[in-house]
Amino acid sequence: MDMILRNARIHSREGLWDIRISDGRIAKISKGLRGTHDETLDLKGRLVMPSFIDMHVHLDSVFTSGYSELNTSGTLLEGITVWGDTRRKLTSDLIRRKAGEALKWMVSNGTTRLRTHADTSEPDLRIVKALLDVREGFRHLMDIEVTAFPQDGILTADRCLPQLEKAVEMGADNVGLIPHNEYTREDGVRSVKIAFEIAEENDKKVDGHIDETDDPHSRFLEVVAAETIRRGFQGRVTAGHTTAMHSYDNAYAFKLFQLLKKAQLTIVPNPLTNIHVQGRFDTYPKRRGMTRVKELLESGINVALGHDCIMDPWYPLGMGDMMQPLFMAVHIGHMMGHQDLVTAFDLITHNSAKALGVSDQYGVEEGKLADLVVLDARNEIEALAKQATRTYVFKGGVLVARNTEGVREVRTNGRFEELDCLPLEITSKGGEKEEKMGQI
Ligand SMILES: [Zn+2]
Repeated sequence: MDMILRNARIHSREGLWDIRISDGRIAKISKGLRGTHDETLDLKGRLVMPSFIDMHVHLDSVFTSGYSELNTSGTLLEGITVWGDTRRKLTSDLIRRKAGEALKWMVSNGTTRLRTHADTSEPDLRIVKALLDVREGFRHLMDIEVTAFPQDGILTADRCLPQLEKAVEMGADNVGLIPHNEYTREDGVRSVKIAFEIAEENDKKVDGHIDETDDPHSRFLEVVAAETIRRGFQGRVTAGHTTAMHSYDNAYAFKLFQLLKKAQLTIVPNPLTNIHVQGRFDTYPKRRGMTRVKELLESGINVALGHDCIMDPWYPLGMGDMMQPLFMAVHIGHMMGHQDLVTAFDLITHNSAKALGVSDQYGVEEGKLADLVVLDARNEIEALAKQATRTYVFKGGVLVARNTEGVREVRTNGRFEELDCLPLEITSKGGEKEEKMGQI
């Protein structure tokens, strides 16, 4: 049966519109659509946008803050150490359950497409296997790409490279890398080349953690861009974080931008984590540590945001709501001019679709997939200002989440289930695991 969304506001269109959804797609956008046999939903002038995309999230670590040790310094490096201990204790089943819970939160917040990192550092690769299972098991709620992510680096131990290769063989969509985490600059450069080799051999895309540091001498982004150009990978490479760019001198940044443009790289800042984890070695003034979003955009370089973490060893907060990193980004990046705010949502919608190569089926236009979010606001600025309720969320034309009268519901197993948004609480005592649903 078709569905008609009545009285919708749509970006850059005057007045209120009706949207007919048929076979999972937007069949027609018009005023006063007829269709007596169709199911109708009156949006009462609410804003309809394409549903959000999260370009960078670690579904394997969600809800693990405090599972082993707490990250007391707030630094990235302590987070990595704590995670190294935490991940050893996580069973496949627990990873799947945690990720599933996080996905429901994300859907209820308007996201229906994401890219997750799966840590390849455990010898049995159970984290990768678990997230590949999640990718298949939650297709009704979320389109997921899995990046095989060598958290410990590619060259820091003999096991790292074969495990990364195995993860790609198992079916990961993208090859990850973390050159600034290798032992030396030379190893970092080598790791970039290796990641591209694996991607080329297996026809995968490249999705790196690049220069996530305040160190202005961390310059692996230029290596990634050069490798992209040499191998003809333009449009198939994303670089996450790139926080060191915040600390580059302007002359170097200018040169780098030309290279990024040529390589058609997408830069993926993660503002929530970046503002929390960077600047930790500064006294005053303290650097913000977010990459140069405004300047990159002005130079015609694609930028799309990630949430990165939800209550894990790196970032103890987070609701899986892409409007939070967006809200943070416009503040840190001085992007509060009127036009900046009107187009800010591109950072979690169209720019991300471009990076994922799905622009041809994405957007509030006839013929596109009916992946939509209805916000309780009249325009983008109002939506961002009041962090508007996501009243309805559609994926492939199916209503998958709704939030009416303060009750948040997500469709699971064909019916709506109330979502209480209590974090999946997991505790560990003396190496023994106890798991329970959070009852605070
Ligand atoms: Zn990350």
